[in-house]
Amino acid sequence: MPTVNRATFDQVMVPNYAPAPFIPVKGLASRLWDQEGREYVDFSSGIAVTSLGHLHPELTAVLHEQADQLWHLSNGFTNEPALRLAQRLIDATFAERVFFCNSGAEANEAALKLARRYAVDHFSSDKDQIIACAQSFHGRTLFTVSVGGQPKYAEGFGPTPGGISHVPFNDLAAIEAMISDKTCAVIVEPVQGEGGVIPATQEYLRALRALCDKHNALLIFDEVQIGVGRSGSLYAYMHYGVTPDILTSAKALGNGLPIGAMLTTAKIASAFVVGTHGSTYGGNPLVTAVADKVIELINTPAVLNGVKHRNKLLVDGLNQINAKHSVFKEIRGSGLLIGAELAPVLQGRAKDVVTLGAKHGVVLLMAGPNVLRLLPSLVISEADLAEGLRRLETVIAELVPATVAA
Ligand SMILES: *Cc1c(COP(=O)(O)O)cnc(C)c1O
Repeated sequence: MPTVNRATFDQVMVPNYAPAPFIPVKGLASRLWDQEGREYVDFSSGIAVTSLGHLHPELTAVLHEQADQLWHLSNGFTNEPALRLAQRLIDATFAERVFFCNSGAEANEAALKLARRYAVDHFSSDKDQIIACAQSFHGRTLFTVSVGGQPKYAEGFGPTPGGISHVPFNDLAAIEAMISDKTCAVIVEPVQGEGGVIPATQEYLRALRALCDKHNALLIFDEVQIGVGRSGSLYAYMHYGVTPDILTSAKALGNGLPIGAMLTTAKIASAFVVGTHGSTYGGNPLVTAVADKVIELINTPAVLNGVKHRNKLLVDGLNQINAKHSVFKEIRGSGLLIGAELAPVLQGRAKDVVTLGAKHGVVLLMAGPNVLRLLPSLVISEADLAEGLRRLETVIAELVPATVAA
C-alpha cells in the first residue's frame, strides 16, 4: 500500500476542509489512535455521531451479520431492517410514518419539501414561506444552507431558493411579527449546535407550537445533532414536552454509518405520494440494521439516565477547571452536548484550545470562535471522562498559565 499522510490531503482532496495534522487510524469506545500510535480521548464523537463509542461490539456484530446477508436493493423493494427500524422509531416517538435518506441535510431537505407540498395540497399554492432562526444550522445542500441562519454558508452560491426568512432564536416577539397564513413551516433546532450550543427555552418552543397551529404551518424540529439520546431523552422534544409535526434525525442514528430519517404523522406524510421524493440509498438494509440496534441500545433507562449522570460529571469537571483558571464565561447545553463559552482571557480562541487539545491527547470541538463544544459518547466510561477533563485542564493551564482565581 502506498504511504498516505496528512500532506497527501492537500494533493488529492478538494480543499473545503482543514483537517487536523494527524490521521486517526483506530478507535475503540472513547479512545482514538493515530498513525504514529498516539492515543486520544474522544470528546467529539465525530460531531455527535459515534454516540455509542467507536466499535461498539453489538453494533459491529449486527454490521457483520448484515454484511453477510444483504447490502442494498433499491426503492423498487422494501427490506426487513428498514421496516424494523421504522417500526421501532414509530413505537418510540410521536411519529406514524418515516422516510429514510443518508444525512441530516437530506432529512431536512425532505422535511422542507414535504412542508411545501403539504401546504400546496391542503391550503394554497402561495403558502410557501419558511421561517428559520438566525445562527441555525440545517445542512449544506443549497436549500438547507439557505434555510440555515449562517449567511456565510450560502454566500457565493446564488441564486438561492426564495421564500425563506430568519428571526432571532428564542425571540418570541420576532416570530410573532413574522409568521402569517402564508407560512408553511417553521424549522428550529431545540438546542442550537453549530450556532454555539444554545438551548431553546421551553416557553419559546411551546409558543412556536401554538403559533404554527394558529397559522396552519408545520413545526419542524431539526434534531440531527441533539436527537438519539444526546439530551438525555431519546429526542429532545420529549424533554421539552412540545411535539413537532416533522422531526429530522441523523448523525448518531447510524453511529457512523450514513443515515438520515424524517419522522412525521400519517396525514402529513400522505402529501409525498408515489414519485414525489426519493433517495437511491435511503434506508438500505446494511445501514438500517445497524441503526435499529443503535435505537434499541440507546432508548433504555440505563443509557438515558447515564447521560444525565455524565452531564453532571462533565459540568462539574468544567466548573472545577473554571474555578482554578477563570476561562469560561458560561457553561451550558443539554445532556452531553455541552458548550463552554470562553471568557475574555481566551476571547475568540476556541480553535487554539482544540488544536492544543489534540497535542495533549483530547479531541475537542468548537461551535464558533468563542465556544468550546464537548460531545463525548453517551456511554463514555467515568475514567475516560476524567482523563479527558484532566487533559483539557493541561491545555487550559498552558494557554493561561498565570491566571489563578482568588
Ligand atoms: C450536522 C447537522 C446537520 C447536517 O447533517 P449532515 O449529515 O452533515 O448533512 C443538520 N442539522 C443539524 C442541527 C446538524 O447539527
